[in-house]
Amino acid sequence: SLLTSRLAMTKVLAVANQKGGVAKTTTVASIGAALAAMDLSVLVVDLDPQGSLTFSLGHDPDLITTSVHEVLLGEADIVDALVSTEDGVTLLPATIDLAGAEALLLMRPGREYALKRALATVAQDYDVILLDCPPSLGVLTLNGLTAADEVAVPLQCETLAHRGVGQLLRTVTEVQQITNPDLRLLGVIPTLYDARTTHSRDVLADVSDRYDLPVLSPPIPRTVRFAEASASGASVMAGRKNKGSQAYRELSDNLWQHWDAGKPLVTLEATV
Ligand code: ADP
Ligand code: MG
Repeated sequence: SLLTSRLAMTKVLAVANQKGGVAKTTTVASIGAALAAMDLSVLVVDLDPQGSLTFSLGHDPDLITTSVHEVLLGEADIVDALVSTEDGVTLLPATIDLAGAEALLLMRPGREYALKRALATVAQDYDVILLDCPPSLGVLTLNGLTAADEVAVPLQCETLAHRGVGQLLRTVTEVQQITNPDLRLLGVIPTLYDARTTHSRDVLADVSDRYDLPVLSPPIPRTVRFAEASASGASVMAGRKNKGSQAYRELSDNLWQHWDAGKPLVTLEATV
């Protein structure tokens, strides 16, 4: 039936890197908005107690009463926590309460599966579900990786920015061995990219070689307009013509062509 084929198609992508400031949240908000603008049904999940994704999508975490925290602990139904956003995506918001979820979940059996279980009840309503992981490799990121079909790793193209990649890849391998054998490592999303320097390109080539990882194309250029938009809490795609959102739209299109039509992912190796 239509419903069954739709269920099978829902794609869950985790965006993870234990390093902060590499544009995980910006990537989730931007890809989410771009996919929604393509008339796809999109759910984004804020797994960071800081609530940056929630805030950047126009919701004040301090005013949210039911959040991902209650959902993970089984104290609320996921549908009661979902909110709509101006960018056309549905949001499962986070509040600072989530900082306590780590400790509370640790005492529970099956703690890595809490998000997966909650998402299973609404997945059929969405084409794509994007998970914004916090800057750690704790139980919240493990929930994200356990619930996901695929994981993408945003990486700032600076010399030392990829120091933690090995550790993240080991966590992905452990998740594949224990809680989610089907998890696929999609590759690196180059962020805050400065195409004018050969340095950025060298770092990418080095990371790609060293960890044998695909580098998704196009890289997301550093744009001043981006920082302004997220600081004001305005729509991430508000500056629709800036180079950053343009790159995210192209990346989103590539991802959807890959998921929906089975096209090979566009990677940097393929384009240079
Ligand atoms: P993370 O979720 O990994 O901590 P964020 O998405 O919050 O990272 O981004 C960190 C900071 O970098 C934010 O202030 C954000 O506005 C800024 N930023 C993200 N992407 C870009 C970009 N392409 N150009 C300029 N600033 C960016
Ligand atoms: Mg973030």
